[in-house]
Amino acid sequence: MMQQYVDTKKQYKDCILFYRLGDFYEMFFEDAITASRELEITLTGKNCGLEERAPMCGVPYHAVDSYLSRLVKKGYKVAICEQMEDPATAKGLVKREVVRIVTPGTTVDPQALDETKNNYIMCVAYIGDTYGVSVADVTTGEYFVTEIGDSSMLFDEITHLMPSELICNEAFYMSGMDLDDLKERLGITIYALDAWYFDDAICRRTLEEHFKVSSMESLGIGDFDCGVIGAGALLVYLKETQKTDLAQLSHLTRYVTGKYMVLDSSTRRNLELSETLREKQKRGSFLWVLDKTKTAMGARMLRKQLEQPLIDKKQIEKRLDAVEELKDNAICREEIREYLTPVYDLERLLSKITYKSANPRDLTAFYSSLSMLPHIRCILEDLKAPLLQEILEEMDALEDICDLIGRAICEEPPLAMKEGGIIREGYSEEVDRLRNAKTEGKDWLAKLEEEEREKTGIKNLRIKFNKVFGYYLEVTNSFKNLVPDYYTRKQTLANAERYITPRLKELEDTILGAEDKLYALEYELYCEVRDTVGKEVVRIQNTAKAVAQLDMLASLAVVAERNRYVRPKINEKGVINIKDGRHPVVEKMIPGDMFIANDTYLDDKKDRISIITGPNMAGKSTYMRQTALIVLMAQVGSFVPAASADIGIVDRIFTRVGASDDLASGQSTFMVEMTEVANILRNATRHSLLILDEIGRGTSTFDGLSIAWAVVEHISNTKLLGAKTLFATHYHELTELEGKIDNVHNYCIAVKEKGDDIVFLRKIVKGGADRSYGIQVAKLAGVPDPVIERAKEIAEELSYADITTRVKDIASAGKETKKKAKKYDEVDLAQMSLFDTVRDDDVLEEIKNLDVSHLTPIDALNTLYQLQNKL
Ligand code: ADP
Repeated sequence: MMQQYVDTKKQYKDCILFYRLGDFYEMFFEDAITASRELEITLTGKNCGLEERAPMCGVPYHAVDSYLSRLVKKGYKVAICEQMEDPATAKGLVKREVVRIVTPGTTVDPQALDETKNNYIMCVAYIGDTYGVSVADVTTGEYFVTEIGDSSMLFDEITHLMPSELICNEAFYMSGMDLDDLKERLGITIYALDAWYFDDAICRRTLEEHFKVSSMESLGIGDFDCGVIGAGALLVYLKETQKTDLAQLSHLTRYVTGKYMVLDSSTRRNLELSETLREKQKRGSFLWVLDKTKTAMGARMLRKQLEQPLIDKKQIEKRLDAVEELKDNAICREEIREYLTPVYDLERLLSKITYKSANPRDLTAFYSSLSMLPHIRCILEDLKAPLLQEILEEMDALEDICDLIGRAICEEPPLAMKEGGIIREGYSEEVDRLRNAKTEGKDWLAKLEEEEREKTGIKNLRIKFNKVFGYYLEVTNSFKNLVPDYYTRKQTLANAERYITPRLKELEDTILGAEDKLYALEYELYCEVRDTVGKEVVRIQNTAKAVAQLDMLASLAVVAERNRYVRPKINEKGVINIKDGRHPVVEKMIPGDMFIANDTYLDDKKDRISIITGPNMAGKSTYMRQTALIVLMAQVGSFVPAASADIGIVDRIFTRVGASDDLASGQSTFMVEMTEVANILRNATRHSLLILDEIGRGTSTFDGLSIAWAVVEHISNTKLLGAKTLFATHYHELTELEGKIDNVHNYCIAVKEKGDDIVFLRKIVKGGADRSYGIQVAKLAGVPDPVIERAKEIAEELSYADITTRVKDIASAGKETKKKAKKYDEVDLAQMSLFDTVRDDDVLEEIKNLDVSHLTPIDALNTLYQLQNKL
């Protein structure tokens, strides 16, 4: 046995081998040590023919799923080696085979998965300077391919899809992308596969065979040389690990990254699309407000669409039409939602069916879900929006499948597959006959019991059954003396004796024989039904997609109605004009109708950049995020929280939000901030929307102000960038830019002074704030009075008047940046910059090197004078 183990293990070196021994999966040697540590199970030993006992540990087979998912979540791969014959009948050593390899990206265990999220595995083939990228979710059958030419776009794509496992070729592994960041921060398991997986011929052949096509052109990816290899290598790997035909991967969908609005990972995080920044929870996130879907498929679809809004006006309008009709026609919508409620996750059920791991209850769940479809179709027939009509077309009622399951499977079957009770009466004559034999047998037993009672006079004689002895006659001690000779004693209990008779054994053989046959036949028929359903992968997937989309649209419609959202107008002229916009999440988080609505106007010409000032807590970030979210919602095809909105399509939204939010990533906060600014300035276009909050906060005032200033200048210059931008800052000096640079305008969030205190009005008004009210806000936050008083004193002593005057100078020097830079040099900056420090060091060095004993007094005076000038 150990020899067989070692031979198997050799083929699966990179996996932990779960080796089936009776009711346990055992692990040995290194695997046992790793697994006992990771799973906190006892490490024992087993004699294995070597001097020392082999380390061993095991998990019971019935609980294997939870152990598997724990290992896989930690990034391990597990090979499951099963007994391929019944140990009771096998001659010699039981045959065993690895039947599946479970990896983070290929778990199908529902308990290990979040049903509202996809579980993707991604493959990246880096060839020449192109990345062939392919992604699949084996639980839903999605399978995509694309090519990406740029590492930062690839990074965005990875963080957008968030695969749990990424496989790649050696070239990508060595390409210098920060894989540790992906591994550690995002928890993605990443490894390079052997070169043969990426062999062009093998990849093409595997794809051709799987999709039964003769060339890549038929798959529509003839021009994707790298993509073919990415998709092919992924398929080779999946076939090797899953050891099934992967029928659920029925389409390979080609996509181009330019089809959707791009949201990089920090923007998704900052806008709190699916979880909050601080608590990392769904409550308080954008999805929390928007997700009123009824099915897991709908929830996944909505999340996906939020992360990739559309950029095509026609498509957006088409969705908006559908949402509008569903919003206005509340009766139809609510009926649809009611019928969607009992619909299970068809995509994941289907993958269990194709993996042959579906149990009978999965099939009845499938049946009950499918039986809702005709009702939904019926309602859809009355609706007019073209997208809803498309959904109707895609939604196959799957009546044949429904009918088959309905006829074949009992209403409430057991979970177990081999203990009968699965097949419905009337489906198979043979099943009915065997089942009758079984029930008749029960009558025979009852008759026999009656006869024996009469014959022997034992009034409480009972025929009973247990798994060890089969059927037996039980006689309590008080009637023991009446037991006749032809009873054979089998077992003595404290208060009774158990017997058998030849007639009872005969009946038992007939009954149990029928039972064995019945169970085997039921299992066989069950598998037949399951596999017939499994063959309809494509139709079922299309229907599931249609259901998911309908669920998403209905959810958007409900949310629009409940939250008083309006339909946005969509334009391609680059104008963003929002009247009385609200933040969809914040308005839900504060009680009553206390949220103050605000307008936003940005365009491609005169109003490109808004500089927003105002004290902390005034509502600057809320305002800016609300604008970003309204634009995003409009491009998803959702209604928006505003009195009216005209939204010019943007190609990307970028956000750069407060420095202190990124502590987890380990880089210095200023470095993170600047890396993000660099990314934005390099990748934004004039069609992008930029949300910049407190740029430059992470460094000294002067450096920070200078950077913020230069960033505004750069963005405002249409030759360089020219993106629409909301720029919040606590550097009031930046308000000087209005009027000096075209297309920059000042806004501030109004506050009212009330004696020593301030009241937040939350209203955005034209003009710049001239005070930061930091001390008042500190007071509001509960900083003790003595500290507040002292702070006021210090503030009075320190005057910023100086700085403001200088800034005015620079601004009025016009658009000539060189001149400005010079002015900066001339200024005696109170706070030391990096360069000042270097210069001071030079002076010290010179003093050290002075030969004082040989200096004449006049030389000394001159040197002193020169040194002073350098400071
Ligand atoms: P800032 O970015 O200026 O420091 P925030 O945008 O973080 O301020 O807003 C602070 C708090 O003020 C928010 O958490 C929210 O509760 C409240 N708030 C912001 N904007 C509004 C508004 N328009 N109406 C009502 N409350 C608001």
